[in-house]
Amino acid sequence: MTAALAFKPEKARTFAKEVMERSGQNLVACYQCRRCAGACSVGEETGYITPDRLIRMILTGDQENALNNELVWKCVSCYTCGTRCPNEIQTGRITETLKKMAKEAHQAPLQPQIAHFHDAFVHSGLRWGRVNEMEFMAFYELRNMIDHVKGKKFGAIFNEIKTQSTLALSMMRLKRMHFGFLSAKGRQEIKRLYKKKKK
Ligand code: SF4
Ligand code: SF4
Repeated sequence: MTAALAFKPEKARTFAKEVMERSGQNLVACYQCRRCAGACSVGEETGYITPDRLIRMILTGDQENALNNELVWKCVSCYTCGTRCPNEIQTGRITETLKKMAKEAHQAPLQPQIAHFHDAFVHSGLRWGRVNEMEFMAFYELRNMIDHVKGKKFGAIFNEIKTQSTLALSMMRLKRMHFGFLSAKGRQEIKRLYKKKKK
């Protein structure tokens, strides 16, 4: 039997306030109509966690589960739920915020590979103002390999090398793999905006 959540109003208020401020979303406007739930692109992947339920978790102060659940890690930021929401709540921004908060709290991610993918994307995007495929894949794969070695999953290492080599070859054939380190003109601006948002 699942233990009942002990509601602590002060803790719930502080947590909800932080998520609202950082995501820029007004969660208290949610009246649980569940239009977002029917629209979520990854609904079949996230079990019972739908955008409305995630919002309810935050508002009731269930911090532990709100920071680490399937929706936080599998949301693809498609913004479909926000388009359907009568109160214009963008759950994609909430899940992004919760990922960052989970990382800051040193919480082990439920989906480590997605966390590595996210880190590699941000790392490369910040450095060059755009994602450089080679650097991005190297960073992402290195983190995955470290996990596999730590877990002694040697079969997974072999599969990873095989899958990624096939993917790389196919990208090269389609001329979708760039070997140089291209940078965007406004990359300093991107860095500056990121730092400002972080503060
Ligand atoms: S659609 Fe908007 S108001 Fe309705 S449950 Fe979802 S987030 Fe809340
Ligand atoms: S933004 Fe995330 S939560 Fe919203 S519909 Fe897309 S995948 Fe689902």
